[in-house]
Amino acid sequence: MSDVFTGNFTQQESISEEAIEAAVAVLRSGRLHRYNLTEGEVGETSLLEREFAAYVGAKYCLAVASGGYAMGCALRAMGVEPGDKVLTNAFTLAPVPGAIASVGAVPVFVGVTEDLVIDLEDLKAKADQADVLMLSHMRGHICDMEALMALCDATGVRVVEDCAHTMGGAWKSTASGRWGRMACYSTQTYKHMNSGEGGLLISDDPELMARATMLSGSYMLYGRNGAVPEAEVFEAVKYDTPNVSGRMDHLRAAILRPQLRNLDHQVAAWNVRHDVILQELRGTPGLTVVERAEHEHYVGSSIQFLLLDWTEHDIHEALARCAARGVELKWFGGAEPVAFTSRYDSWRYAPSAPMPKTDRILKGIVDMRIPLTFSVEDCAFIAQIIRAEVGAVFQGQKGTV
Ligand SMILES: *Cc1c(COP(=O)(O)O)cnc(C)c1O
Repeated sequence: MSDVFTGNFTQQESISEEAIEAAVAVLRSGRLHRYNLTEGEVGETSLLEREFAAYVGAKYCLAVASGGYAMGCALRAMGVEPGDKVLTNAFTLAPVPGAIASVGAVPVFVGVTEDLVIDLEDLKAKADQADVLMLSHMRGHICDMEALMALCDATGVRVVEDCAHTMGGAWKSTASGRWGRMACYSTQTYKHMNSGEGGLLISDDPELMARATMLSGSYMLYGRNGAVPEAEVFEAVKYDTPNVSGRMDHLRAAILRPQLRNLDHQVAAWNVRHDVILQELRGTPGLTVVERAEHEHYVGSSIQFLLLDWTEHDIHEALARCAARGVELKWFGGAEPVAFTSRYDSWRYAPSAPMPKTDRILKGIVDMRIPLTFSVEDCAFIAQIIRAEVGAVFQGQKGTV
């Protein structure tokens, strides 16, 4: 066996034949716009909304242009106004503070724990600064949702969930996205369903959802949506809600519907791979694995570990050694953001007081995608490479002390 892994970390599975056929049927019809329907036709976009609402157990669902759009739309629907503060995770991706900034609001970053979830102590300390929390389940790590909701309910903080990495996940028996007032999902290529770009927004609150639907650009055609509140609810909001156009089209919905039917199967496939890597990495000298809570039903579409208190030089060396053996790791802690990596102090439009405890963790986070094009054997091999190279650098570190 070669000692170099040759797989491609950004290669997703191809779109299924069933989804391709559904897409071709939409193309043949010429009716790609979601409101371009024949008499009595429901349309792919509305069907996707109904099916996704049923999948997560929500009353309402709106399909939109992207996950980031869903987040901005949720904040606007909840009445967040320019200048308002919105709590959010310090450990997240750029579209999250970006969505807050898109409505003119100001992110207030909340720290991260070694388990890579929001620090509830820090949230408690900052809860009086805002009445909305954009809770990002970053990299699929779900905090103790009962404790978080108890804290937010007690302090009057309304929760919007960013489920870009938890579609298909749950805390206890309640789906991720069903804890907050609204929840946002992404169907961008690197998430759990792939339509290139796309997003979904869910809620049980009729007024919020009527506003979100108007915001998405429904004009007065909202009656054609798949999973929206009764027409009466729209009467109260339809003249006062701006159209911030961001609809999903039938083409994307057509390729997402077969993927939704297969989602639980994909989740299981991710978790087998994730768990093989986690098991292999446990006990690697110098490396801290992120263990999952008993009630956390995660989706292991990526994996993280910590190189806590390592020097920048040694982290670079470990990553370079892994890269030389074909294993692409991303360091979230770098001072300069690279590709998708980021940390709160790189968003200079949203300055934050320093958070030393959080900085220590962010500096040590290493991240790896787990595309489903990798076999379970590939995953075991990748983990062996990480174990050997990280271990070697760590041993060398100790040798020079
Ligand atoms: C990808 C992502 C988003 C935004 O989704 P897009 O569809 O790319 O706009 C939001 N939050 C997190 C954590 C993400 O990873």
